[in-house]
Amino acid sequence: MSTESPKVHRDPGSDGIQDPIDAHAANTTNIHTNANSGVYEEAAGDLPHFPEDTKEEDLDLPKECFLLQKQNNAFQIPYYLTSLGELSKVRPPAVVQTWEARHEQLDAAQKEKYETFVGMVKEARWYDPKTHDSWCCLRYLIARHFDVNKSFHMIEKTAEWLKETGSASWTCEHCMENPNDHLGQFVGWDREHRPVMFMSMRWGPERKHPLRHMVTCFNHLISLMPVGVEKWVCVTDFETYSHFKDSKPSMGISVIQTIQNHYPERLGKMICINPPGIFWVLWKLFHPVIDPVTRSKVEFLYTEDKPSVYDTFPALFGNPLRSFLYDSYHRSKRDLPAEPLVWLPDPDGYPKNYEERKVQLKEMKEKGKEVKKAAKEKKEEEKKADHEAKKAAKKEEKKHH
Ligand SMILES: [Zn+2]
Repeated sequence: MSTESPKVHRDPGSDGIQDPIDAHAANTTNIHTNANSGVYEEAAGDLPHFPEDTKEEDLDLPKECFLLQKQNNAFQIPYYLTSLGELSKVRPPAVVQTWEARHEQLDAAQKEKYETFVGMVKEARWYDPKTHDSWCCLRYLIARHFDVNKSFHMIEKTAEWLKETGSASWTCEHCMENPNDHLGQFVGWDREHRPVMFMSMRWGPERKHPLRHMVTCFNHLISLMPVGVEKWVCVTDFETYSHFKDSKPSMGISVIQTIQNHYPERLGKMICINPPGIFWVLWKLFHPVIDPVTRSKVEFLYTEDKPSVYDTFPALFGNPLRSFLYDSYHRSKRDLPAEPLVWLPDPDGYPKNYEERKVQLKEMKEKGKEVKKAAKEKKEEEKKADHEAKKAAKKEEKKHH
């Protein structure tokens, strides 16, 4: 990935983003590429080697990529995040788009409103030049369709929220005490250089206090954005979602409202993987509080059904990230441990689409059946041998009497 051109982007219009700026950007920038052209595929270079019994303490993990000192036991650390050297091969360019180039994409009316808005923000008593930079001001303007007063009201509310909660320096006390309470990990960047967070229901059983954890993760993701990248991507594993345990919508709603109110134009995509049928009840409860823009960014995919991750991920994630995700979902589906600690891609490769995945699943099923059958036969033979031995012993006993 180190050889990729920093200017190559996936069509920004294809993920349902409808704001006028993005639509404009899609028309004016020459940064399109065919998702299947292979520009992002890493050449099959040398993979680092890790002894089987590698422990977290043995690795010199780049601190910037890891929120916690100690990782969730169920998290396999992708090899490309194990050292600064490996990280440098997948890290996006420091600047993906300059502010000047972004500003040029605004039309005359938008530029004028932007100037007015920045003037208002700079006059405000809560103004903080570090927080309220050009990009930040533009995000609030887009979120309110360039209505300067509405945008100002919104940014002011966030300034109050930041002051009241001190959320910028929040940590998740649950994970500090037990990193197995939640699983929300940065796992790499997508094709648009957006940081990607992997979350898991199975491996994050604490469900009552998601807000602090999520806000901490959001702030972490923002710290991993190159200049010109403003959005993050979340891929959430819904395996083990239980309606009984998880259907308290107020928890999820607090997170959704925080994103909508205080992180405008930050959510690039939210992909929900393997939501069970009952999940739709919860989704319906969420509906009234999710605005259409947020809703358009949510996608539902499956690892063993359609619409499938195998058909969708290649356009979104280059390798090795998408292979890492395939393996993580596969492990979650079957509740397999994170062994070995460092994840390396399967040398046999991965299904290229759902049809190939179906064949793979069938083979796995048949293999499973064979293993089961062999175990059953072995057991029966042992039983028979045991029975024979007992019979012989009895006969022997009788003889002696
Ligand atoms: Zn946490």
